[in-house]
Amino acid sequence: MATYRIAVLPGDGIGQEVTPEAVRVLKAVGKGAGVSFEFEEALVGGAAIDATGAPLAPGALALCRRAHAILFGAVGGPKWEGVAHEVRPERGLLALRKELDLYANLRPAKCFPMLVDASPLKRSVVEGTDLMVIRELTGGLYFGEPRGVERFADGGARAVNTMAYTSREIERIARTGFEVARKRRKRLASVDKANVLVVSQLWREVVTRVAGDYPDVTLEHVLVDNCAMALVQRPTQFDTLVTENTFGDILSDEAAILAGSMGMLPSASLGGAVGLYEPVHGTAPDIAGRGIANPIAAILSAAMLLRYSLDMQQEADRVERAVQRVLEQGHRTADIAAAGVRPAGTREMGDLIVREVEAQG
Ligand code: NAD
Repeated sequence: MATYRIAVLPGDGIGQEVTPEAVRVLKAVGKGAGVSFEFEEALVGGAAIDATGAPLAPGALALCRRAHAILFGAVGGPKWEGVAHEVRPERGLLALRKELDLYANLRPAKCFPMLVDASPLKRSVVEGTDLMVIRELTGGLYFGEPRGVERFADGGARAVNTMAYTSREIERIARTGFEVARKRRKRLASVDKANVLVVSQLWREVVTRVAGDYPDVTLEHVLVDNCAMALVQRPTQFDTLVTENTFGDILSDEAAILAGSMGMLPSASLGGAVGLYEPVHGTAPDIAGRGIANPIAAILSAAMLLRYSLDMQQEADRVERAVQRVLEQGHRTADIAAAGVRPAGTREMGDLIVREVEAQG
């Protein structure tokens, strides 16, 4: 029987409440599929700072490197807002991304039919939306050199950031884009600003060259300003999008709004030998500790783990179907419940989804 080692880093706040539900779902999937999972926990974020003084506990990185995949919760909260910059809770996540070379961030945005009315967009626009934004995570404007602020004697100043990409960096994220599109509806939109930026011109050149290796995937190039409009005008025209760091940061948040609630959105960060899976949301200090957080984002992150790190497509489908069924049956956590509906708590929603997974196994 195949055994997969999963590093579990729940972090802080509702990260500690939703991650156990994702673990339970994986256990249920494992039973049905005849594979076993070994879960090993480590501290990250504020929890790690409190226990060890560092935002990533000693040994946590080694544990992640040994694992087949990482299930991550969320980090941060008001308690740690005053701590020094180098030991802030999010440094734990950034350190993991850097050390594990996680350069590709996958953010699906799917509008579940029964939650269409939770979206701020009209039903006619948003219905049927099912897209994936792939954001380059380690290059571009956020990391390029030179960067800094120059102060002048007359009181003025000049600040610089640099958008830089090598063809190698573009090629590897383009390949991720084509590979992911292949597992979906085989359509890839590469988003750039090639009418203005030379970086985007290189981006387009490299993506077009890589497309030659993926004749089964239809590629189109879209300017980022057009893409921003199209996402709220006709989101159903997109399947998989791939773009650089800054554009991806903005477009993935725009796409997230289509899906309704933060509690529904999973993500994956891929690149090196081991992938990291986490809900898009944070630690939600306003509801933490009350057992009411929506675990679906964490559970759908576990489905992505099955799909992208373990290549267990059927099992990933099974988890996604179980979530859909439970929603179809009318169950809702507080964040997505209509007025007058009794909301399910975190654990109860986890139970319902585990039961559906078992029923399908
Ligand atoms: P947040 O995502 O934690 O919360 C935003 C709003 O959405 C809140 O009202 C919250 O109650 C609600 N919400 C989020 N997830 C939910 C869920 N699963 N179920 C029900 N409701 C949910 O964002 P924020 O309030 O801006 O940040 C809070 C803390 O989380 C901060 O310390 C921030 O730095 C941190 N954060 C961490 C990550 C991460 O670890 N990747 C990401 C974002 C924010």
